[in-house]
Amino acid sequence: MVARLIDGKVLADELRAAFKTRVAALTARGHCPGLAVILAGEDPASQVYVRNKVNACEAAGIFSMKIDFPPNVSQETLLAKITELNGDPAIHGILVQLPLPRHIDEAAVLEAIAPEKDVDGFHAVNSGALMQGQPRFIPCTPYGVMKMLEANRIDPAGKEAVIIGRSNIVGKPMALLLLGASATVTVCHSKTRDLAAHARRADILVAAIGKPRFVTADMVKPGAVVIDVGINRLPPEEGGKLCGDVDFESVKEVASLITPVPGGVGPMTITMLLANTIEAAQRRAEA
Ligand code: NDP
Repeated sequence: MVARLIDGKVLADELRAAFKTRVAALTARGHCPGLAVILAGEDPASQVYVRNKVNACEAAGIFSMKIDFPPNVSQETLLAKITELNGDPAIHGILVQLPLPRHIDEAAVLEAIAPEKDVDGFHAVNSGALMQGQPRFIPCTPYGVMKMLEANRIDPAGKEAVIIGRSNIVGKPMALLLLGASATVTVCHSKTRDLAAHARRADILVAAIGKPRFVTADMVKPGAVVIDVGINRLPPEEGGKLCGDVDFESVKEVASLITPVPGGVGPMTITMLLANTIEAAQRRAEA
């Protein structure tokens, strides 16, 4: 079997085209959606991610504000900026690009964002709401994965879903969303025994590990849907290209559907950030 590609770029473009109409309608009513993106430090990957987010906002007609801090920024300065943005009526969404410099208490910074502006969905209020099955803002990456499944008519109900990775931003919310969609969910991590055996049971396999080509064909059930969240930069001696957590070339021979890297989950993550920002503005407009 050679898997069909789930093209995240095509789906992202479709969704973003529809967003433009919603943004125009909100703007006409005086509620142009606004996103503030805070970047602390000089991590090159973070700079690229932030630039892509700001560009995507512009293309959709969303107002965006990029706020740069040096790597030695103090926690007080960051918290003061968030407090200011929490009170700014032109800003509906606040995003702090992770990772933060090591001396900053990441949890304290994320908790300082007003839950109604937490478009990344990382605040405890929003993760709690997701856990209770009443999400307000869903973290963008797993949200994008659910949209990809939906667009490809994959109903998780009754299926075995295996997620490799248990981070707060991908693995755990992914598990909650698939559970909410009535899949039978297994979450694997670095302490999981015989991970390959778990993976081989999956009808839907989600890899969010951060290890290039970790998932190989022998770990995949024939006909499985394979979602590759990983974004890894290969070393220069291997070409320096981006690659996922899935060994695409071997796994595509076994899976029925597979996401590529790049061009899979990545574009959907930014798209769902736009969706959450528009949703935040809509809620404010209706308040
Ligand atoms: P984290 O580093 O926070 O989490 C990685 C998870 O993988 C952990 O739960 C860890 O287990 C698990 N893990 C690591 N090594 C192994 C192993 N050998 N066997 C089994 N499990 C292992 O990463 P993130 O969740 O933030 O990101 C994961 C990947 O997704 C990265 O490549 C990242 O760049 C990418 N990403 C892509 C996005 C997109 O838009 N496409 C958005 C966000 C992330 P343990 O908890 O036990 O340590």
